[in-house]
Amino acid sequence: MTEPTLTARAFFEKARAGQLTAIRCGSCGELSMPPRELCPNCHAHSWQPVVLGGEGTIASFTVIRVAPRAHAADVPYAIAVVRLKEGVSILGRIVDMPLEKLAVGLPVRFRPLIAKDLTTSVGFGPA
Ligand SMILES: [Zn+2]
Repeated sequence: MTEPTLTARAFFEKARAGQLTAIRCGSCGELSMPPRELCPNCHAHSWQPVVLGGEGTIASFTVIRVAPRAHAADVPYAIAVVRLKEGVSILGRIVDMPLEKLAVGLPVRFRPLIAKDLTTSVGFGPA
């Protein structure tokens, strides 16, 4: 039996299609994302892809006011660590939410951010 491995590339291809994917350790059940080689919990290498619902809450956030040149036109914007319902956390950019309304515990929902060159990154908008 060949084991499906979730590569970073597959992760972002699925993200572009609107789906967040994590991997679950077949040995201890630990969830991880984005994909990595070995389970940080038990060091096993038996990942299984898990589709996530994309709903979560803001665990922490930072408002970026001085950005790298590529994002200079976008400031100010917020980057948040979002704790997903499934129990994993992921860093994403907050979109379509007023910065002054952002708060820890606020519900958000995943949405893909697709650049002109089709580079996809993780974003979160209103739940
Ligand atoms: Zn494990």
